[in-house]
Amino acid sequence: MHTNKTALITGSTSGIGLGMAKALAAQGANIVMNGFGDKDGPMAEVAALGVKVGFHGADMSKPDEIEAMVRYAEANFGGVDILVNNAGIQHVARIENFPTERWDAVIAINLSSAFHASRMVLPGMRARNWGRIINIASVHGLVGSAEKSAYVAAKHGIVGLTKVCALENATSGVTCNAICPGWVLTPLVQKQVDAKALALGVSNDEAKRLLLAEKEPSLQFTTPEELGALAVFLCSPAADNVRGVAWNMDGGWAAQ
Ligand code: NAD
Repeated sequence: MHTNKTALITGSTSGIGLGMAKALAAQGANIVMNGFGDKDGPMAEVAALGVKVGFHGADMSKPDEIEAMVRYAEANFGGVDILVNNAGIQHVARIENFPTERWDAVIAINLSSAFHASRMVLPGMRARNWGRIINIASVHGLVGSAEKSAYVAAKHGIVGLTKVCALENATSGVTCNAICPGWVLTPLVQKQVDAKALALGVSNDEAKRLLLAEKEPSLQFTTPEELGALAVFLCSPAADNVRGVAWNMDGGWAAQ
């Protein structure tokens, strides 16, 4: 479906971003990956789907590196047709104990990076009159949780950015939407499971069960594959008029 299109997915060496990369590659899109840690394994997994795969190691907290990543995609892939703003980090602490450096990092990586990447790809999308920007927000873009001030602020912010981006491009072929996952068992959440197991002196499985029971009525983790399938839908012609939504896939979390 997306042969000759290119998707740039930030933070795609792991978790949800890697799921997005594989789902869009399975539709024929060429993929530009980004993120920290091992890149060869994730790139091989995506390349195995038979598409062209590139990588840029931009630090998403640095606007000049984000610009270099977009220029890399333009020079080597002819432009960015699909942008998935996915890179994100978490830090858990009460406001009065929240390290200001962590606040700045969460806002930069989870929110400002999406603004920078979007502003850099939009002119090309507008010129081609087709584009998809998908912001990976969170159920925390819709509701709050204690001890996650920076994350909840950033995710509410990215839901707002999504709406404005959708409105500014509403009469064009460029759409912008947000996906709001509940718990997904990626390294980002495994750290929170480990912290709970340690704090409560329970097994890892019991910590997972408790984490789900606190918030997610389905008692099931959402998977990167399910989120990838939603991204594929948002990139399809059927979603041409889906604009500015924040679509949760959260096991009923925000329905409560
Ligand atoms: P993850 O830790 O598995 O992956 C995060 C990715 O971002 C990795 O590839 C990492 O290398 C990259 N990254 C981190 N800092 C970066 C930086 N400064 N520059 C470039 N890349 C950077 O996490 P995940 O759970 O897959 O999270 C992906 C997104 O989904 C995040 O925005 C997160 O907030 C969101 N999300 C996750 C969950 C969940 O339950 N896991 C729920 C809702 C939303």
